[in-house]
Amino acid sequence: MGSNFPVRVQSMTNTSTLDTVASIDQATRIIDAGGELVRFTAQGVREAGNLQFIRKGLFEKGYRQPVSADIHFNPNAAEVAAQYVEKVRINPGNFVDAARTFLKLEYTDDEYQQEIEKIRNRLLPLLSICKTDHTALRIGVNHGSLSDRIMSRYGNSAPGMVESCMEFLRICSEADFHDVVISIKASNTLMMVQTVRLLVSTMHQEGMNYPLHLGVTEAGDGEDGRIKSAVGIGALLVDGIGDTIRVSLSEDPEKEIPVAKKLIDHIMKRAGHALITAKADPRFNPYEYHRRDTSIVNNIGSAYPPLVMASEKVLGVLQPDLIANELSVFTVEQLPELNSKPDEVKFLMLQYGDLNEQLIEQLRKRVNVVVLLSSHHPNAIGEMRAFFHTLMIHNCSIPVFLHRVYQESDLETFQVQAAADLGALFLDGFGDGIFLENALLLPSQVVDTAFAILQATRVRVSKTEYISCPGCGRTLFDLQTTLARIKAATGHLVGLKIGVMGCIVNGPGEMADADFGYVGAGKGRVSLYHHYQCVEKNIPEEEAVEKLLALINQYNVLNNNRFETLFFLKNESIALFEVKRSDLPETTDPSRRYQWFLVDKKQQSLSPLTFVSMKNEEEHYERVFEQGTLQFDAFQGTFESKGNKSFLLFRNPKSTLEAWMLMKVAAFFNAN
Ligand code: SF4
Repeated sequence: MGSNFPVRVQSMTNTSTLDTVASIDQATRIIDAGGELVRFTAQGVREAGNLQFIRKGLFEKGYRQPVSADIHFNPNAAEVAAQYVEKVRINPGNFVDAARTFLKLEYTDDEYQQEIEKIRNRLLPLLSICKTDHTALRIGVNHGSLSDRIMSRYGNSAPGMVESCMEFLRICSEADFHDVVISIKASNTLMMVQTVRLLVSTMHQEGMNYPLHLGVTEAGDGEDGRIKSAVGIGALLVDGIGDTIRVSLSEDPEKEIPVAKKLIDHIMKRAGHALITAKADPRFNPYEYHRRDTSIVNNIGSAYPPLVMASEKVLGVLQPDLIANELSVFTVEQLPELNSKPDEVKFLMLQYGDLNEQLIEQLRKRVNVVVLLSSHHPNAIGEMRAFFHTLMIHNCSIPVFLHRVYQESDLETFQVQAAADLGALFLDGFGDGIFLENALLLPSQVVDTAFAILQATRVRVSKTEYISCPGCGRTLFDLQTTLARIKAATGHLVGLKIGVMGCIVNGPGEMADADFGYVGAGKGRVSLYHHYQCVEKNIPEEEAVEKLLALINQYNVLNNNRFETLFFLKNESIALFEVKRSDLPETTDPSRRYQWFLVDKKQQSLSPLTFVSMKNEEEHYERVFEQGTLQFDAFQGTFESKGNKSFLLFRNPKSTLEAWMLMKVAAFFNAN
């Protein structure tokens, strides 16, 4: 693994590691599917010890692929496992440090140093065993499972995850132990990609270049799981980062392998491609998200969420925003004709090779023109990136749709390829719309894929998001069936994030920014979460899905009709939320039927507005308000920033409306 070796494909069993036969059977299925490494959870010394029998059983069946042990909270188990397997994964967030308590929020320099010493003293014996037994070590950081110590200095941030990893790497390096692989995972693809880039840069600064294991955690199942994984892993592979990958799906683990192979094969097709000559805009920062500044054409560009274009109307739930053959589309040869009908929106098909100083100058002056960017280069992402950087260097702010044509009859292959091709660009802040074509699949499948790519890159939310773990030996319920039931019951709750996690050990932290969580708490027992707060403990599994729905209902989310956001008016710092109470009849006085809130990021305030009169019934913005002065404290809410995104955070919302507003405002700021 590493250097010029191929990118290795791996997966993890979800059997009990104490069940030797079942674990061997599942591992052989993973290997038969093409897995090159199999990981088993080892939550205790007993499980770690049993790995010797699993290892032996696999050898006897002729399976010589390396085996890895997954350790959390138990250095003793790591030391046992290191004697029997080829690789041990430890989590810096909980190798020595206890689970996050949030009780200790301040550490003096001395206290901080003492904790590092504690880690050194606990890690060195493991490194010594690894050296003797030629066992590799994976330092595997997860967003959401950082220690109190790291959280106190860095928060749940990219620099925090990188530092958590670097502390362990420095100890390995000092001990002259270099059989190390690193992973930094998150369920948020943007966070994952930027953090791994930052890690690589930090390692280079400290003279390190350890191989990297890539993965998106809690990616879910089906289309969403595949697309999320292809977006996150694909974006890094195209950067030339990554030596082994795991596609985590909430499905049978052997199903992960073909997805991973398709992704690697697709990206490796571009190897040895012709050089793309371009200059990078020095203002571009790969570690921070900033959407490219563009002019606005109708509802395209600037802060508008990227739109979806399709070649025809579809029979499906998600409808494209634009139909290509209903639009005015021009080629570069038809450039002079763009001057006709100045008020009409026109699309100009371009490739990177079309760009020259003269054309860019013309594009800078055009209004009502949107570029439809395509590429036939084997490294289409590279060429499209070159296009955007060239526009940015020339301060050309024309909006750009990303256009790709596929000839692929296998849905999974298409989803993986399209997500890998376009996801990286949206994560970089490029693209004001997406247009996918594939005549060999149903139009609705193509459109669904486009929406799923926008959702996976978090630039446009169009459905409920499920943050569900792949399951492992710690999983305490039938994950696949439960996830399917929860999906069936909550699929209409657009913008809501629901975590479905197999165990209480890692689940609550790793479901990160989920609104509600369903977490295995013990055999046949489930705990329910609202954000980071456990609200129902140890309820019987048979009742848990119903209770989750009741909990969501309680916050008035399930009853979507009761409150409805109608209108956002937003500039850099202000958004107006208009909330409609659908339980009151249309004839009701608007001052009762609607509630309005003004959210001011700069002033850190949320003000309810009092309705005074309405100038024009049709136009919401012509309603006249008097502004209230309710401050955030009254809502126990604050703004928090992550990168350039702000989140309105209510702590312990006191009413269902506050809870509902929390989700809507957060979704609004996330989506924009
Ligand atoms: S959250 Fe899921 S995958 Fe992670 S340790 Fe728990 S059961 Fe295993």
